[in-house]
Amino acid sequence: MVSDPLHITLAGNPNSGKTTLFNHLTGARQHVGNYPGVTVDKKEGIFTHKDKQIKIIDLPGTYSLTAYSVEELVARDYLVNEKPDLVIDIVDASNLERNLYLTCQFLELGVPLIIALNMVDVAEKRGISIDTEKLSTLLGVPVIPIIARSGQGVDALFDNVLTGIRENNHPPTLLRYGSDIDQALSEIVPLIEQNNLLTDTYPARWTGLKILENDDQILDKAMLMDSDLTQQLVNRSEILTHHLRTTVDAYPEAVIADHRYGFIKSILRQGVISRTFDVDRLYTSDKIDKVVTHRVLGPLIMAAILFGLYSFTFNYSTFLVDGLGSFFDILSSNVETMLPDGPIKSMIISGVIDGVGGVLGFVPIIMFMFFGIAVLEDSGYLARVAFMMDRIFHFFGLHGSSVMPFIVSGGIAGGCAVPGVMATRTLRSPKERMATLLTVPFMNCGAKLPVLTLLIGAFFSSHQARYMFLATVAAWLVALLAAKFLRMTVLKGESTPFVMELPPYRFPTMQGLLIHTWERTWQYIKKAGTVILGISILLWAMMTYPGLPADKTAEFTAMRQQAAASQSAEKAAELLTIDSLEAEAGLRNSIAGRIGIALESVSRYAGFDWRTNIALVGGFAAKEVIVSTLGTAYSLGEVDPEHTTSLKDRLTKDTHWNPVVALSVLAFIMFYAPCFVTVVAIANEAGSWKWAFFSMGFNTVFALAMSVAIFQIGTLLGLG
Ligand code: GDP
Ligand code: MG
Repeated sequence: MVSDPLHITLAGNPNSGKTTLFNHLTGARQHVGNYPGVTVDKKEGIFTHKDKQIKIIDLPGTYSLTAYSVEELVARDYLVNEKPDLVIDIVDASNLERNLYLTCQFLELGVPLIIALNMVDVAEKRGISIDTEKLSTLLGVPVIPIIARSGQGVDALFDNVLTGIRENNHPPTLLRYGSDIDQALSEIVPLIEQNNLLTDTYPARWTGLKILENDDQILDKAMLMDSDLTQQLVNRSEILTHHLRTTVDAYPEAVIADHRYGFIKSILRQGVISRTFDVDRLYTSDKIDKVVTHRVLGPLIMAAILFGLYSFTFNYSTFLVDGLGSFFDILSSNVETMLPDGPIKSMIISGVIDGVGGVLGFVPIIMFMFFGIAVLEDSGYLARVAFMMDRIFHFFGLHGSSVMPFIVSGGIAGGCAVPGVMATRTLRSPKERMATLLTVPFMNCGAKLPVLTLLIGAFFSSHQARYMFLATVAAWLVALLAAKFLRMTVLKGESTPFVMELPPYRFPTMQGLLIHTWERTWQYIKKAGTVILGISILLWAMMTYPGLPADKTAEFTAMRQQAAASQSAEKAAELLTIDSLEAEAGLRNSIAGRIGIALESVSRYAGFDWRTNIALVGGFAAKEVIVSTLGTAYSLGEVDPEHTTSLKDRLTKDTHWNPVVALSVLAFIMFYAPCFVTVVAIANEAGSWKWAFFSMGFNTVFALAMSVAIFQIGTLLGLG
């Protein structure tokens, strides 16, 4: 008999190891991160245990099931709407007390539950030993110790899952919340039951509890169902609130939370936890943190690490970048000789090889950078960066929870603003969230990286790491100032407090590092082979057509015939000059060329020529396109018949370019309109296109002003 797969859900605190377990079970390579808030959306996978098919869902991590954050709502809606056969609550054994707070709420909700006590290895190292039998008896649910990272205990866990399903009977656990709240519950729960208010979705007692907790979502739902009854319940809740405010000076939510913690404490005190040996009160992580997050030393260490990362990246990847560059050069000179002249050849060389090849040529740098970031992330250091930045962020009107979106967007260079924009969901204050949303695109994402590298390599080659470091600092500075500006003008408002949880330091595994590096590098390659390829070809067409009018072509043909007929010694050179003049005239006359030239009326104040303008317009589709378009624009006006000059050399030799122009272009690229996908993401997250358009306009005007200032001042000082 074929039955439906069992439906199992993984739930637990952020950073408790849910994704690690999920990956172990399904062989998936979902992102495992050593900081909170990595899993925003739920993930699904299928595997078999003892011939039984099991469908497993990885829910976003939450500390609670209140309605305060998106993750919490996602998790809780999922549990009540999808009704999984069993919920595996992943509990971090080394942080038992805090993790059980969520467990408590699963018990209140009455979901079929089994506890996977994870990270018992970490607990053991800290001298914590946990009596799982006793914990299981006291909570009334099975508790299975596991080590998700090595897979130890996972088989036993699923043996228990299969038996647990058979005994599927899980009434909600009745917790006590003190006499006042219990009294209120005993009055309102019967009313909820009698009137069947939301009873097909939630247990009545749970609904009652949420009403006392003043839970927006439940109140809204209840209002829709039965507004009179709900009003009656709310009135009772208000009496309770008033009473608690006057007697214990606390809101019901706080009193309820206190009693949950009391429940946990009482369980733990009954011999569940014992210390096998007396470790220092300061665990290793705390000791490291004394230094690493020190007020003075911390930022210095952070700067040193960042600089070290860039030096490592640029020193060790150059030979690979050069190698790949030569490979594409050889490829295009082969195509040059193999194919007959014509639009196909032009498209392959100028559109595909110079365009996509230019982007792919940076893969080694991207890979090295991602590897370094993976080390920082997996070890837990990135969370410390967030912790330290929080102090600075408040000053600029942002929130501690804004730090992660900044880092995800490319705060260390190499990232993406799209997940960065989505990561702002963890922010509760709408204004702080909006300010974060609008400023994360200023970070140096992975797509800007090749452009930055190209220009830095061409004009400031002796100090690549130093300039990359400066570019990073500049990005943060500008983003923070912009945020401050927004918070003082259009997004004026109070700032809210923040508590950052620091996950313990962990030694990254080689496998984890390689998976992270590869995942992100592959994303980059895939994008180059698909989106960038498409845009490259489109832009090539825009740069090639409509071509020169017949009379112009005839003019060039006549010139060529004349030169060919002459007996001059420079005949070959003359012919080449004519070719390149014709190519340039063609490019100028193309659709893209005309746009680029039209834009020169503004862009010349910033020092951009029409070719650069074409690339910058293309860059709105995706920032990598700037490199590929420059590649195409400069190869269409080809002067070098052997096709052996790299784009970098072409730019350095071009009379129009110099370090001041390069700096001005760099600044523009770093700060102008976010790419198209990011704009769509902003519109989605902000819930309106108004802010998306605002970010395009605001950023572009701002970037242009900056570039004009750089170019004018630089030129004035005679640096160009
Ligand atoms: P999630 O936020 O719940 O999805 O947690 P992750 O799966 O991303 O794991 C958080 C961190 O804990 C990662 O660095 C994992 O490698 C690490 N981790 C997970 N399970 C274990 C375990 O059993 N032992 C140890 N030592 N580390 C673990
Ligand atoms: Mg996760």
